Amino acid sequence: MMRPKSQIVNLPVYQPGKPIEDVKRELGLDEVIKLASNENPYGPSPKVREAILKEMENLSIYPDGGAVELTADLADFLGVNTDQIIFGCGSDEIIALIARAFFVPGDETIMADQTFSVYKSNSDIEGAVSIEVPLADGKHDLDAMLAKVSDRTKIIWICNPNNPTGTILSEQEMTAFLDKVPADVMVILDEAYCEFVTDPSYPNGLQFLEKYPNVVVLRTFSKIYGLASLRIGYGVARPEIIKLINKVREPFNTTRAAQAAAKAALKDQEHVSNCRKANAAGIVQIQEAFDRLGLKYFPAHGNFIMVDVGKPGAEVFDSLLRKGIIVRAGHSKYPTFIRVSVGTEEQNKAFIHALEQVLNEEKAHA
Ligand SMILES: *Cc1c(COP(=O)(O)O)cnc(C)c1O
Repeated sequence: MMRPKSQIVNLPVYQPGKPIEDVKRELGLDEVIKLASNENPYGPSPKVREAILKEMENLSIYPDGGAVELTADLADFLGVNTDQIIFGCGSDEIIALIARAFFVPGDETIMADQTFSVYKSNSDIEGAVSIEVPLADGKHDLDAMLAKVSDRTKIIWICNPNNPTGTILSEQEMTAFLDKVPADVMVILDEAYCEFVTDPSYPNGLQFLEKYPNVVVLRTFSKIYGLASLRIGYGVARPEIIKLINKVREPFNTTRAAQAAAKAALKDQEHVSNCRKANAAGIVQIQEAFDRLGLKYFPAHGNFIMVDVGKPGAEVFDSLLRKGIIVRAGHSKYPTFIRVSVGTEEQNKAFIHALEQVLNEEKAHA
């Protein structure tokens, strides 16, 4: 019998948000609203379509493995050097590449409980030992995480805003933390949702790169830029680190279409700004409804909200599904919560209406 790496035998398979097509088919619904994967309900900039159509002529030609043009544009936009950037098939791939480049079995790695599950799965695959530190009020407990640092610690994962809770760490909190992390421990700062944040205390992670050579910032075109299906994200760090990660990258890990789309999306910052404003309004809309319904939630800073529905989240998930609304549940540390992505005003309204019905129906049965 084939023998896989022992650490992958019991590895759980990632459970993605339920696809709209499946829900329509299984439940015989015509209209389904997916608020489960933190996608941009407005889609990408209209300029992206044109850029991709142009690439139709080049389908038989390998992409530029180094994404030279996109790297130049992005470096310019971010104010960093081109040798500080690496692109991946989503920032998910950058996480995998970092784990692959740095972990040897027995290394320790520290992350929040709960946070984005991809950190732990990739650490597991490489044989690293994950030390999960409970969140405090839905926020990273940075002091408790620091207390877990040992001689074996190689990487600390920080998700800001945190998925799934949506909380942020302030500039002050991050600086105090980074000051105490040993120089040979890498800090991976995942900022997949940074473009949505409007709170002035929130730091731009790139500012830490100068003073702290052990920091890697991860970002993506999947969320506010609306390009989730094309799979393109990036890491920014010191050139020495980028060089190492590049060694384990497949030569053609991002496609021509994705690179062209990202270039066009990056140019349209007006679209980004409009999406940020619409999202902020959506958060207010949904949180006001939660307040009215007496539901507690974590302060949301990304494009999703974690709310305590006061009963098993999985049941509310199922009831909402039957009404054609897909959300996220099954958070082991937050069994009575659901996570809902911020949609358009109409989608949010439909979600609120359905949730109200579901909670009232269940009350009536009790
Ligand atoms: C969505 C997400 C990502 C990355 O998504 P990609 O589509 O792989 O770029 C990374 N981190 C967090 C916390 C996310 O929620």
